[in-house]
Amino acid sequence: MTQTRSEIRGLLARHGLTPRKRLGQHFLADPNIIAKIVALAGDPTGTRALEIGVGTGTLTRALAEAGFSVTGFEIDRRLNPLISEALDGLEVDIRFRDAGCLDYSEFGSGQKWVMVSNLPYQVGTSILLDLLRRAAGLERCVVMVQREVAERLTAGRGSKRYGLPSVVVALYGTARLAFRVGPQVFLPNPNVESAVVVVDRHAAPDARRELAVRLAAAGFAQRRKMLRSSLRPVITGSVPDSLAGAGIDPTLRAEDLDAEGYLALATAVGRAI
Ligand code: SAM
Repeated sequence: MTQTRSEIRGLLARHGLTPRKRLGQHFLADPNIIAKIVALAGDPTGTRALEIGVGTGTLTRALAEAGFSVTGFEIDRRLNPLISEALDGLEVDIRFRDAGCLDYSEFGSGQKWVMVSNLPYQVGTSILLDLLRRAAGLERCVVMVQREVAERLTAGRGSKRYGLPSVVVALYGTARLAFRVGPQVFLPNPNVESAVVVVDRHAAPDARRELAVRLAAAGFAQRRKMLRSSLRPVITGSVPDSLAGAGIDPTLRAEDLDAEGYLALATAVGRAI
């Protein structure tokens, strides 16, 4: 059973806890939204769901009850007794650890993984991008993030939200904004709108994609400059030769290249090394 608003209030009060804003503690208090998120996670058979930020355990419970094996990370040890109560009777693997320092080899290709999380606002994007870049067994991510972040993750070239996160996501998967939600579905209410993004992974981590990420990072770090100068810090050989090798106009800027363009450039740079 998912937790209603009054049940979350009751759990917090019984354990003498108040939510910590700096940890992004906005707990999901809407069973319909939780059901929609779990449905987006796909077929639970033989799949382990990774949840970043267990909170009061409501999404964790819904995932376990749907048939996923669940591994959850939570940074706030104060929540330990509350989580034990909320997840009583379920076999779930809960670790009280900072998800910013995950051992990505654990999410290897020996097991099918999905990441399903209502991500903490402060660290959510970097955790998502790191997982896409490093966790070989990850097949899908279903994440609740700030609406603006969702728009950035799913933006295509030409959009005003297009940037490094859009390129990293597109290098490793196909992303879509599944639905938007207002602040009223959380306890306490955040000041921002949120949205759920689904990323279907289409590529495992590899050296060429990582080089493409590094090239895009250098380009967007100096986004007003042309690629022929912004890429100088990361290309040891001739920048104009690499751009020509990939058929890319050297006067373009970072935002003019899509993920395929960065991959083509990574191939050309790789040939030149
Ligand atoms: N999953 C719960 C829900 O949907 O109600 C809680 C979501 S709440 C937005 C984010 C949770 O992430 C909080 O419980 C917070 O303590 C936890 N958190 C914040 N930073 C974290 C980190 N670096 N590693 C692990 N958990 C973190």
